[in-house]
Amino acid sequence: MIRIKTPTKRIKDFHLSYFQKREIDKQFDFAISRQTNQEFIDFFSFLKERKTSILIGKPQKLEKIKGYIKKNFNEIYRGLFNLNTDESINTEVFKGLRDEIESIFDYKAFSVASTPLTQGVKWGAYGLVNKLKVQICPYCQRSFTSTIKGAGGKTRPVLDHFIDKAKHPYFSVSLYNLIPCCVVCNSSFKGSKDFSLRNNFHPYINGYQEKAVFYLKPSQGFDEDLTSILNGKYSVGIKSLESNNKSFTRRVLSSNEIFHLCELYDFNKIYIDDLVNQSRIYTPEFINELAKMDIFEGDLEVRLILSGIKKTNESYLYTSNDNYRVLNKLLHDISNDLGI
Ligand SMILES: [Zn+2]
Repeated sequence: MIRIKTPTKRIKDFHLSYFQKREIDKQFDFAISRQTNQEFIDFFSFLKERKTSILIGKPQKLEKIKGYIKKNFNEIYRGLFNLNTDESINTEVFKGLRDEIESIFDYKAFSVASTPLTQGVKWGAYGLVNKLKVQICPYCQRSFTSTIKGAGGKTRPVLDHFIDKAKHPYFSVSLYNLIPCCVVCNSSFKGSKDFSLRNNFHPYINGYQEKAVFYLKPSQGFDEDLTSILNGKYSVGIKSLESNNKSFTRRVLSSNEIFHLCELYDFNKIYIDDLVNQSRIYTPEFINELAKMDIFEGDLEVRLILSGIKKTNESYLYTSNDNYRVLNKLLHDISNDLGI
């Protein structure tokens, strides 16, 4: 679980322009004019009033809006939330309501749109991911999520709805609710799970950073030494280094469980084996000798080169959040463990 760069002001402006071009205010007015139920009229008026925050507000803002709807439009909130699971919900009424909300915050249209905006930019899901430039899935850091669009073919990351769009259709096209990620994390694992900031890491806000680390866990009956690892008698584990921070630890365990990270990383042992073999050659003594050479700036640089962690902004940063290298956080933590 890694953090990704937040959308720039330009991206937010493009996103808003797209909905202005679709005449979102007129769509709201039309929806309001069709309602007979005062509660629904008030609800659409509320959404219209908060449309900018809904479209480009930060995750904390979206959670506040969600809380407000739950408190002040509780019947609507529950109706939409339970539509697919509770048989006592009036399906006709709330499905109709959901359809109307979705026709305004229209994700289906957005996902295929290529709407021309100013500055020669075309907006829609492709336009967005092309500007966000998220190259690696933030949930698993295991798959590339590059964007290509040409005459002969196209590919882009899928967009996961952090807050489930079926239960909360008003967040279907909220910029901060659209997380570029890989198909496996989105479709196979997360599905329609309704994430919240309390229970889950939000890639636009936080990842594990250095507060949780992957490590090599010797198989049962084997010692915690290099021999066990060399024989492949280990699996990948994760531990929170903030055991007193219950909320953080809970989110670490839940992301590992939902996205099956350690289980999947066990299939990538070949990369870990490379690091193990490097650690056999580059012992602490050897690294110290190398560090004395003029071409290196010290033992830290030697270790960073060996583990493949890049030099950033003229200083050697702990780049476990690096966005361009698959498995970076895993390999970073394991190489630290191995002393390289
Ligand atoms: Zn993924």
